[in-house]
Amino acid sequence: MQGQKQYQQQLFYYFDIESLIPRNHLLRKIDKCIDLSFIRDLTESFYCSNNGRPSIDPEIFFRIVLVGYFYNIQYDRQLCEEIQYNLAYRWFCKLSLEDTVPDHSSLTRIRDRLGVNIFQQFFNKIIEQCKEYGLVKSDIDVMTDSTLINANASIDSMMPKNNESQEETTKTVSKKINYKKISNKTHISTTDPDSTLSFKKGKSQGLKYKAHMTIDTESRVILDTKITTGACHDSQVYVEQLQNVIENHDIHISKAIADRAYGSGESLQSLIDHGIEPIIPLFSGKSGSIVGEADGFIYEEDQDRYRCSAGNYLTPFPSKLDDGRIGYRLSGKICKNCPIQQSCKATVLKHHMRLIRRHPHQKLFEHFLVKMKTEAFYLRMTERFWKMEGTISEAKNRHCLSRAKYRGMKKMQIQAYMSASVQNMKRLIVAFLYLMFLLLILKKVSKK
Ligand code: SF4
Repeated sequence: MQGQKQYQQQLFYYFDIESLIPRNHLLRKIDKCIDLSFIRDLTESFYCSNNGRPSIDPEIFFRIVLVGYFYNIQYDRQLCEEIQYNLAYRWFCKLSLEDTVPDHSSLTRIRDRLGVNIFQQFFNKIIEQCKEYGLVKSDIDVMTDSTLINANASIDSMMPKNNESQEETTKTVSKKINYKKISNKTHISTTDPDSTLSFKKGKSQGLKYKAHMTIDTESRVILDTKITTGACHDSQVYVEQLQNVIENHDIHISKAIADRAYGSGESLQSLIDHGIEPIIPLFSGKSGSIVGEADGFIYEEDQDRYRCSAGNYLTPFPSKLDDGRIGYRLSGKICKNCPIQQSCKATVLKHHMRLIRRHPHQKLFEHFLVKMKTEAFYLRMTERFWKMEGTISEAKNRHCLSRAKYRGMKKMQIQAYMSASVQNMKRLIVAFLYLMFLLLILKKVSKK
């Protein structure tokens, strides 16, 4: 017999919300495994202890924000709406059916009030818990990479920097804007001045930010995340990022793995000076490949000079060349009468003078050219693909990092911290459950 439900709306329900949340629900696991009680202490200084109207509980604020980042809910308005009718979200945010969900504007106000430092401390506290569960060890290898994030501003908002009467010209410029002729030097976005144009092969031109991430290679826990303008080169903040990891988390870094964007001589040397072994391909295929031994020029390090096939010496010129290299020259008077000058590979300058260019980090480049051919190096590079690229892809596709939620560098940094925090929490849950599983096994074994 075909049944027909006679729906009658009930005015009162007697049940526990928790009983409706599935046992293996993600939010249930987060609630069980991660300690968020530190939030009250963290934010205590922002509230008056004995006066005024009670605020929204800061822990509830963070729980609401976490729901948004866990479930890739891009907008605060949508987040508050979904918490209104999603029982699991309500339960996780410690809101009963009678409680009013905070307005989306309250989230903005609280976020602005707390500021980026509190979110950074929240991010660090989660990493601390990762360390407590043995997920992040005290001596680790790290991987670093960056990704562009579309800013919450249109390229049409770009105005000439030196335009005195911007208001008058807004309409005309936006109509006639020639995308090929605008640059960060000449134009700035009026909507989000912190974002910049970024040009990357295969990507559309637009206003961007850049998120730089450093992860632990073993656990894939994000140890540092930094937001810069889209135009910032990867290597510019690299050393600073690694220093942050060392100082903020009291961790020793043994090896640093990254792609060739980080392989400049300065970056490599700086890592070595900090006692970190770089596993990074050289920035350019041309790095380290100079006229040298193979062409009959022997470098004598103790004398800092080159000896050519004819037995003459090329000595360094005091000032560096335009490309930052050191020029080793030999007088035209000698080379002019050289019997093997036709086969000589040194660059010919005026008056028959010969020149060899040597990079200040040439020795380092030569060492890396050998290292790059080893199997161990190749394996670490392959590992980088699924670990580092995978973490970035996870952040962009699942945890609100595909597009800027806010405008301004500081708010973007908050977005990066929260996105990284939820990724770390996921790793933490796995570590916690694994630990529980081991304890259970141990208990059973000890009983036998
Ligand atoms: S041309 Fe000059 S630099 Fe070249 S092999 Fe002869 S002497 Fe040496």
